[in-house]
Amino acid sequence: KKRIVIKVGTSSLTYVNGKPNLRFFNSLACQIMDLQNRGYEVVLVSSGAIAIGMPLLGFEIKPNNLPQKQACAAVGQGTLMHLYERFFHEYGGKVAQLLLTKGDALNPKRYLHASTTLDALLALGAVPIVNENDAVSADEIKVGDNDTLSAVVASICDADLLIILSDIDGLYDKNPSLHLDAKFISYVPEFSRAFLTMAGDAGTARGTGGMATKLKAAEICVRSGIDMIIANSHLPDVLMNLIDGEPIGTLFL
Ligand code: ADP
Repeated sequence: KKRIVIKVGTSSLTYVNGKPNLRFFNSLACQIMDLQNRGYEVVLVSSGAIAIGMPLLGFEIKPNNLPQKQACAAVGQGTLMHLYERFFHEYGGKVAQLLLTKGDALNPKRYLHASTTLDALLALGAVPIVNENDAVSADEIKVGDNDTLSAVVASICDADLLIILSDIDGLYDKNPSLHLDAKFISYVPEFSRAFLTMAGDAGTARGTGGMATKLKAAEICVRSGIDMIIANSHLPDVLMNLIDGEPIGTLFL
């Protein structure tokens, strides 16, 4: 059975005001359930908890203060799961919540626990929805960003493919929001550290890592023998088209 990890970022899931993009949630749930119906096992790594929690606690901009950010994550994570539950139920799916921290990736015993839980959930037909446990984790115990987390999850569950859905079509040779002449790279057959220099800093105000963390994820995947694709979350039926081999996004092998 083919196992796929899919990562979606805050900028795809929410509007600037923190409200959920319902059409995106709907299409994501529908496509993931279609993948399951076609025999794939799917794990979703989802950001968005802080952004969704912010307006619920009266914040218009992201608080700088850590406990307040964690409060937003704690409130938003519940709302986020509730949203997923509603949309996945509509398509006959079952969702499960997994909140991880760095220790789950580094400590062999906890790594194994996470891995057997993921196996059990997938065998039972559930869609594990993974996020960093932001409500209780300070920087030193965090993986830090969900691009890296998704690569760690892909390796924990021995996935065949990681798909990172973003607000951009894939990797360019330099940041296309700053350079008009940036060229699209559709295929990276041999990942090397030289690619890391192509990424500028965090792209959007609400995205966290920009391209740098996606390249870090690619490095982890390539080293673990997992293929990785970066593609635009807003393309219609993007997941189905990717699985059917349409030439979209950037493929790392
Ligand atoms: P997400 O929330 O989907 O993870 P981010 O905003 O964190 O998205 O990252 C994507 C952004 O990274 C792009 O919109 C772009 O502005 C920026 N970026 C920086 N360097 C590059 C590059 N070389 N190729 C593509 N995008 C880049």
